Amino acid sequence: MRSRPLALVERPVPVAGPGEVLVRVEACGVCRTDLHLAEGDLRSRRPLTAPGHQAVGRVVRPGGGDGGRVGVAWLRSTCGRCRQCARGLENLCPESAYTGWDADGGFAEYLTAPAAYVYPLPEDAPAETLAPLLCAGIVGYRALLRCDLPEGGRLGVYGFARRRT
Ligand SMILES: [Zn+2]
Ligand SMILES: [Zn+2]
Repeated sequence: MRSRPLALVERPVPVAGPGEVLVRVEACGVCRTDLHLAEGDLRSRRPLTAPGHQAVGRVVRPGGGDGGRVGVAWLRSTCGRCRQCARGLENLCPESAYTGWDADGGFAEYLTAPAAYVYPLPEDAPAETLAPLLCAGIVGYRALLRCDLPEGGRLGVYGFARRRT
């Protein structure tokens, strides 16, 4: 494990490619996965990639106007054609790409992301409150969907353990 693996660097504002949006980051959560990537527990796919996949920000329109608040999460893109994508199991898509692993994430002031994979977010909550919902919140929500909770039932969600390999 390396200590102090992150470095502050200056880079130009990225340019959104076809089908992408430019996002000015308001806040970004820190996930354990970011630490795994920074410390080398997870193999880097793209050297010097900015971490951060719980980003809340504002879309910067091509003319500079405000395109609204969005969230950028771990799953950056999928093929949309394979068997896993067709079954709604996009996270198992063999061509899936990830924010902060395959592309720069929200530890930067700006990032680009496919427009189809950013989530519109409400304006009436602080960005730092919304940010963790984009990773831990998604995991918990998925658990809620899968548990078939009866009407009025209670769901307890406890600390998420990672699988050791
Ligand atoms: Zn995460
Ligand atoms: Zn796919």
